[in-house]
Amino acid sequence: MRDHHVRRVRRDRAVRAAVAEGLLDPHDTPVAAFVDIVGIAETTRELLTAWPEDVDVLHAFAAKANALVPVLAMLRGQGLGCEVSSPGELAQARAAGFSAERLVLDSPAKSQRELEDALRNRIALNIDNFEELERVDRLVADGFPAVRVGVRINPQVGIGSIEAMSTAGQTTKFGVALADPGNRERLLRAYAERSWLRWVHVHVGSQGIPLELNAEGVAEAVAFAREVNVLRPGQVEGIDIGGGLPVDFSGDEDSPTFADHVATLRSAAPELFSGEFRIVTEYGRSVMAKNGFIASRVEYTKTSGGRAIALTHAGAQVAARTVFAPDAWPLRVLAYDRSGLPSTAELEVQDVAGPCCFAGDLLARERKLPLLATEDVVVVPDTGAYYFSSPFGYNSLPMPPVFGFEVTADAVTFRVLRPAESIDEVVARSGVL
Ligand SMILES: *Cc1c(COP(=O)(O)O)cnc(C)c1O
Repeated sequence: MRDHHVRRVRRDRAVRAAVAEGLLDPHDTPVAAFVDIVGIAETTRELLTAWPEDVDVLHAFAAKANALVPVLAMLRGQGLGCEVSSPGELAQARAAGFSAERLVLDSPAKSQRELEDALRNRIALNIDNFEELERVDRLVADGFPAVRVGVRINPQVGIGSIEAMSTAGQTTKFGVALADPGNRERLLRAYAERSWLRWVHVHVGSQGIPLELNAEGVAEAVAFAREVNVLRPGQVEGIDIGGGLPVDFSGDEDSPTFADHVATLRSAAPELFSGEFRIVTEYGRSVMAKNGFIASRVEYTKTSGGRAIALTHAGAQVAARTVFAPDAWPLRVLAYDRSGLPSTAELEVQDVAGPCCFAGDLLARERKLPLLATEDVVVVPDTGAYYFSSPFGYNSLPMPPVFGFEVTADAVTFRVLRPAESIDEVVARSGVL
């Protein structure tokens, strides 16, 4: 087990250094995001070592979790692949240097052009539905190579505690619903008629999904693949098990771990590890969530109806999920003083509000925290996935800068991963006259 205390120590040192270097200037850059480069190396090492050495596995990071090109490039450097679900993500992955053998294209609504591009460039492709399969049939008939094509199944194993994040319910939009009348037979026939259908894909979802439910979905994919292989030995060569490790947003620990996931899969789907199949994984949030944080200066403080409120620059534009679904996506908020040291002020119940012009723009409600003061720094940890990397354009707020930081024994160094968006750029993306 890794010492999780070090993650907090690195974060504290980064906050202090960022303030000292003026990266959180109260006037010019009151909000910024930070990526822990040492943390990424630690997490990817844990991922790579959690999976047994004797299986052929490609860990394709789900780009939507954090598609900043320098982040993707770091993950590539650590030996990961990349799962993309749109032309934008594919372009970002290419810009990060991923070669075709390390890319996987998913998405339930691939356009004709996306399909042609993927096949032509020999990028692994997971088909979502029977109509898409017919489209690919026509492309194959036209001579496009089908080197690594699979079909996504919906194992319909049930939903977790966050319905919007659950991808394997009865009526979920993804994949071929395997338990619907006739579908299993129809899909078996589809594989029997197409020797180039050689992969099976499943993604059950992660946040709010117990590992056992995730593994049940994977077991369904394995069972289907073996059914194909009984009829046509060796046809299904690989299983893409999707993402699916939830993140604990309540502390600095990784829980569950990649090793926990592998152990659960080993007991629910032992044949996955038999050597019959190559494996692709598509972990997203579990790779990046704990390796990023948002920091904002407090612009003003006030009380309203007796409630202490700190007005900051971190709101829905960088934390849309938490603001719109606070019960499903609670985040910790940590208080630091204006010099970037952990605050020692008295604890008080407060709201931590963002800058957007709607009342619900709160990162924390009635949270007991050291009483915040103007120019203090609030830090929102565990936001390295799906937060600042996919900003929301509300109120025309610009995208904050993202800095990578590297903490060594005696120094903290920063580098820009994404520059702050300028107001001119905001205007430029608004439809220029
Ligand atoms: C979002 C997604 C992932 C990544 O999920 P996480 O919850 O971030 O691990 C993987 N595969 C597919 C198809 C996805 O849509």
